[in-house]
Amino acid sequence: MPQVETARGPVDTADLGVTLMHEHVFVLTTEMQQNYPGEWGSEDERVADAVARLQKAYDAGVRTIVDPTVVGLGRYVPRIERIAQQVPLHIVVATGVYTYDDVPRFFRHRGPALNAVLGTEVPDPMVDLFVADIRDGVAGTGVKAGMLKCAVDRQGLTPGVERVMRAVARAHHETGVPITVHTHPGSRTGLEVQRVMCHEEGVAAERIVLGHSGDTTDVDHLARLADTGFVLGMDRFGINLETTFEARADTLVEMVRRGYAERMVLSQDASCYIDWIDPDLMPFLPQWHYTHLFEDVFPYVLDRGVTQRQIDTMLVEVPRRFFERDGT
Ligand SMILES: [Zn+2]
Repeated sequence: MPQVETARGPVDTADLGVTLMHEHVFVLTTEMQQNYPGEWGSEDERVADAVARLQKAYDAGVRTIVDPTVVGLGRYVPRIERIAQQVPLHIVVATGVYTYDDVPRFFRHRGPALNAVLGTEVPDPMVDLFVADIRDGVAGTGVKAGMLKCAVDRQGLTPGVERVMRAVARAHHETGVPITVHTHPGSRTGLEVQRVMCHEEGVAAERIVLGHSGDTTDVDHLARLADTGFVLGMDRFGINLETTFEARADTLVEMVRRGYAERMVLSQDASCYIDWIDPDLMPFLPQWHYTHLFEDVFPYVLDRGVTQRQIDTMLVEVPRRFFERDGT
């Protein structure tokens, strides 16, 4: 029976159930939090708040979330482990690096950065760190990463972004763990993922979620990416700043109408607390929470020709198959 690692240990893929493929528990600027902990306040209260919010998602029918919070997003797995002990939800944690431009300074003068000086190909230490998170567990917790993550945004394929992307691809080949990539579909960065990860590094497109695909309304572009095998993350429902609720939902309706329910996953990219945003701004994003799909999006798309069966495909079947494929 194929299994996925979660914050409470391995789970049979058949038991994943309704799976939101991109939800954070916390997004934090770790160094700011360590030095200026005032806004965060009480650790116990933050944990209790997260437990309550995640329980609400469970009560709406969610059984699993994939939390792609990696280095660059304030990953702290001991806290996730503590929360996972208090909610029935399965939480899949991730490994990788989140950057739109440079590698973190830690890596700047390590690995391939030394190639020219040493006159040889120096392996990237990122690969071994990612593999250890997957095989041994993260930071001594014993919680093993079940997803790999990197990013390419509107800055495109900078040297740092490319280096992380190749390290993620190599860790994938060593472990078989699938990949989610933060993309910027407005500048078609999914095509860079295809070139570097699939054509050059040999990763099967079926093992990659192109995250944030739902940020565009260019369904022809999305259809082409889906035709190459990628899973499209329609995963920011509720973030209606540069777009609207209707634009996101209508794009989903049109992609389903074109026959792509088998190639999409649904999520909200929400979190219990994100320190990137002034808390006073959050009231302007009233739909950005874990149950927006169930409360607002599904009633809307069901009215416009999407069937419950197709919703179940995107929530249950596509995630399950994504984790079951052996692409090593
Ligand atoms: Zn995210």
